[in-house]
Amino acid sequence: MEHIEYVIIGAGPTGLGAGLRLQELNVRSFVLLEQHAYAGGLSASFEDRAGFTWDIGGHVVFSRLESFLRLFDALVGDDALTHQRLAQVRLADRWVPYPFQNNIRHLPKELLWECLEGLLAPRPEPTAAAHFGQWMEAVFGAGITRLFMRPYNFKVWATPPEAMDFRWIGERVAVVDLVEVLRRIILEEDATDWGPNAVFRFPKHGGTGSVFRRMASRIEDHIRYCCPVLQVDWKQRIITCDAGQRFSYGQLLSTMPLDRLVCEVLTPPEAALVEAATRLEHNGVHVSGVGVAGLRPDPTCWMYFPEASCPFYRVTNFHNYSPFNVAQPGEQMALMSEISFSRHKPEPQADLARRVEEGLQTVGLLQEGDAIVTHWEHRVEYGYPVPTRGRDAALAVIQPWLEARGIFSRGRFGGWKYEVANMDHSVVQGMEWAERMVLGAPERVYQVGG
Ligand SMILES: Cc1cc2nc3c(=O)[nH]c(=O)nc-3n(C[C@H](O)[C@H](O)[C@H](O)COP(=O)(O)OP(=O)(O)OC[C@H]3O[C@@H](n4cnc5c(N)ncnc54)[C@H](O)[C@@H]3O)c2cc1C
Repeated sequence: MEHIEYVIIGAGPTGLGAGLRLQELNVRSFVLLEQHAYAGGLSASFEDRAGFTWDIGGHVVFSRLESFLRLFDALVGDDALTHQRLAQVRLADRWVPYPFQNNIRHLPKELLWECLEGLLAPRPEPTAAAHFGQWMEAVFGAGITRLFMRPYNFKVWATPPEAMDFRWIGERVAVVDLVEVLRRIILEEDATDWGPNAVFRFPKHGGTGSVFRRMASRIEDHIRYCCPVLQVDWKQRIITCDAGQRFSYGQLLSTMPLDRLVCEVLTPPEAALVEAATRLEHNGVHVSGVGVAGLRPDPTCWMYFPEASCPFYRVTNFHNYSPFNVAQPGEQMALMSEISFSRHKPEPQADLARRVEEGLQTVGLLQEGDAIVTHWEHRVEYGYPVPTRGRDAALAVIQPWLEARGIFSRGRFGGWKYEVANMDHSVVQGMEWAERMVLGAPERVYQVGG
């Protein structure tokens, strides 16, 4: 049996970050075992038969992590476009600029008053909230919570807010400054430049996945494709793949979903870990791409949909990210819709494409006479790792146990921390893991117990 010092499960952004850094550190004995025939994981892109390029939901590149930005520049360089985010919320048959809470002046008067009344009423201290639902009410008041926060968040997470924590939020949700809200209503000003992704980058060719194809090409000799890992014998440190290959390993980096590693792959199973893993919740995401002949000029990047009139929570004008995302640049549109699903929110696949099309008509994105030139459907069972109230306690059982046995679980579903689960976090988690293994340097982005 072949011995490999560093075995990595998955050639997504985390695994690729780890592999690339190991190579830079002159390590030769490493391998990435990838179940699919391609690299990139959730950040891969696909070209459909009509020549349109699609991501698995709208991916944008923004980061404060210097090492990621340097790598992105080195990989993509001049082939990247830079965009100013322009996002809208569809509510009460109109478009409200994003962030919603800063632009409520666009609402009909009764709804605007409902939002203001909620903001003016006494509210409890947000940090005293027991769950995400209470936190929303404390921060945004009853009106904004009823109209936008609650329905939108359920549509995205497919999880009741009562089951979710709020401590992951940090910069991810714009909070409200009442004086500013009133000033903008009176002076009729919009505020749209909030947040970490107000400016973002996107590859000109090949979608988001092109970044990771380029990364993979630098360590191609170390990647084994179509190689799903079925078993990790943690006592013998032996890994078994679907094709029957077996390797002994020194250290293991797993980027596959942590619950599946613990419940299906780890051999012999460990009861306390299996029990903890059942407390980790995730949603799935169905992506529906509709390509349309003709281009209606509209600089909007993406749109949020809190209401029940359509199945999607977000639609991306993917043709605006790069003109080369469509087959005939400047002459076609690529509307990419995302629909979440979970045990709390089943979304049967059978008629979803039709419901998406109807939804696009309802909200005015598809209009009479529009010719659809392509449909692209893609469904991932693991879309968002949900920050539930039981998550940290579950991770505190699982992660130290694994690490004590040379198994490090990192990345979006390996680490299961939504707050550090974007592409940049994932790549850097992989790089930092490699530095920890080889140089003994501490990990910063993902901290076990942190
Ligand atoms: C809808 C959506 C929108 C997003 N938008 C953004 C965005 O705008 N900006 C951003 O920065 N990030 C975004 N992300 C997050 C981004 O996709 C992830 O951060 C990134 O892909 C995580 O990388 P990873 O390597 O940790 O995991 P993954 O991408 O999930 O890769 C894991 C890899 O492991 C492989 N694998 C799993 N099980 C096995 C097994 N048993 N054997 C072998 N291989 C296995 C998988 O095939 C996969 O290739 C978005 C994600 C989604 C779902």
